[in-house]
Amino acid sequence: MSEPERSSSLVVAFLDDQDASCPTCGYNLRGAAADRCPECATPVHLEVAGPAAGMFWWIAALAGLTLAMLVLTVTMLHLLGYVHDALDRPGRAALVRAGMVSPNELPRWWTLLTVTGLLSAASLALAWLLVSRRRIGRMARSSRMVLGLTGALAPLLVLAVLRLVVLWSG
Ligand SMILES: [Zn+2]
Repeated sequence: MSEPERSSSLVVAFLDDQDASCPTCGYNLRGAAADRCPECATPVHLEVAGPAAGMFWWIAALAGLTLAMLVLTVTMLHLLGYVHDALDRPGRAALVRAGMVSPNELPRWWTLLTVTGLLSAASLALAWLLVSRRRIGRMARSSRMVLGLTGALAPLLVLAVLRLVVLWSG
């Protein structure tokens, strides 16, 4: 048996009773009759991989989400400062109504609510990312890339949403 034939029969034997995603289109190759994806015709081969293989996008998502959470936490502390001031000086709202103090000195409740929501969403996403490390490693390359890019762009998304809320709530 030639080397390509041997490789092909090993792939077919492996996929006989194993779930594995096509690295290009994500199609489940289980039961494939040849060493290429029946859906998109990408040739596939067996390989021995270390734990770091395919983790680039996972790390990108992790870094992005961590940065987003840092931005949100700093913003949250800043906003809580206004709440603290307002509790310290209960007459502040009356002074604002009388036009003696700028409304910017009052707690920004909508922004605080948004930050709380975004922080919860980012925590859940980060927890999922950590728990699903192995599962993400087995995903199709394209899915991993989408996931990684989304995570990496999370800080920009957070800044854009905060900007919109600030503009909207005045
Ligand atoms: Zn495919």
